[in-house]
Amino acid sequence: MNSPTLSDIKELEITLRAMRQDVLDAIRVHLSSSGDDEPHRLANHIADGDSPAEAAFLSDNDLALLHHEQSDLAAIDAALKRIEFGVGGICIECGEPIPAPRLRAAPTALTCLECQARLEQQAATQHAAA
Ligand SMILES: [Zn+2]
Repeated sequence: MNSPTLSDIKELEITLRAMRQDVLDAIRVHLSSSGDDEPHRLANHIADGDSPAEAAFLSDNDLALLHHEQSDLAAIDAALKRIEFGVGGICIECGEPIPAPRLRAAPTALTCLECQARLEQQAATQHAAA
């Protein structure tokens, strides 16, 4: 089996923290290039989980990008929380360990490949029926 070991989870946590930093840096760069003189304050707000929509001075395009970055951040934070609670790398659907290669490819993955495929299949079926 390819179940994640403790060191895989440790590696996953390090990867997620690096990803989180990258997203925060991207938000800061992005905000400072939009001409705002308080990019750090706003970036910190976003890191705290506040909505960037409060930043009314940003353009729609900026907001769309920020929303995208914020949802990345939320996915990363959720994955880190799961590690914190000792369920990192466990599929939320079937409760089985997510194989280490999948975690390396998709550190924020919540499900194993089988469940992912099943969920996509279900979504496609529902879409077709609608
Ligand atoms: Zn599963």
